[in-house]
Amino acid sequence: MSRRLLPLIPLSLLILCPGARGVETAFDQGRAWSLLEDQLALGPRYPGSPGHTAARWWIIGELAPLVDELTLQRFEYQPPFGETVTATNIIGLLNTPAETRVMLGAHWDTRRYADEDPDPARRGEPVPGASDGASGVAVLLELARVFAESPPEVGVLFVFFDLEDQGRIGGQEFCIGSERLAAAEALEFDYGVIVDLVGDAELNLHPEGHSLRGAPELVRRVWDIAAELGESAFIDEPRHTITDDHLPFLRRGRPVIDIIDFDYDYWHTVNDTAAHCSPDSLGAVGRVVETLLRRGGSGGW
Ligand SMILES: [Zn+2]
Repeated sequence: MSRRLLPLIPLSLLILCPGARGVETAFDQGRAWSLLEDQLALGPRYPGSPGHTAARWWIIGELAPLVDELTLQRFEYQPPFGETVTATNIIGLLNTPAETRVMLGAHWDTRRYADEDPDPARRGEPVPGASDGASGVAVLLELARVFAESPPEVGVLFVFFDLEDQGRIGGQEFCIGSERLAAAEALEFDYGVIVDLVGDAELNLHPEGHSLRGAPELVRRVWDIAAELGESAFIDEPRHTITDDHLPFLRRGRPVIDIIDFDYDYWHTVNDTAAHCSPDSLGAVGRVVETLLRRGGSGGW
């Protein structure tokens, strides 16, 4: 054995060591948390509210300096009952020349009525949207900062969907914004990840049913990375099947999965507040998605 080979022995042992965390991430969960708080400070962000207008400008202001191109898809939507609303999908593209492109999506609107609140007297109030709205936006904006500073090999399409969360109110559907964007077939990307309801302080992320059927390799990839990183919030047992912003894309044959905690006790209640969320939860999701994109690949794992 030559002396030159000796240092390789401990190195290979280290690589094979189960649970070794040789993964570097730059995602700052403290910054993500302040991005969540910034949104809550704007008030409820349902269509037609002052908070909705303010949040639109706030997201544009945060995103614009971090991306190469910023596009707005503005559209009018007439609910079956009630007034027409103007909605906006906000789209930012980073690392434009890259051959492979990944879409990261989150909805930015919050629900008009807390119709799942245990107190019937409060069901007419709006949902603050700490986990349901602000958490996904916060994770995406922090990832945009991280990738702007140190771009991955892939291009990243950041999409902030409007009108996800007004389903059943005035006869509306869920996911109006993503449906409009998917139907336009204007987005070029190889695969996508939606993050929604990822703020829960007791985070439980199970592979989601539609995602498993439509993009099983991508689900496998994400949950494997989570296991490698030791992110125990990712639980490798399917549990829920949910209508979310991935579905309009999946229906058109595009591989987009949903990372969502559907065991959040405060879902669609007035208590969907920062008190029931945690920076650690934003960090867990941010680190896994950052690693997924840093490893590149065109989606055919
Ligand atoms: Zn919701």
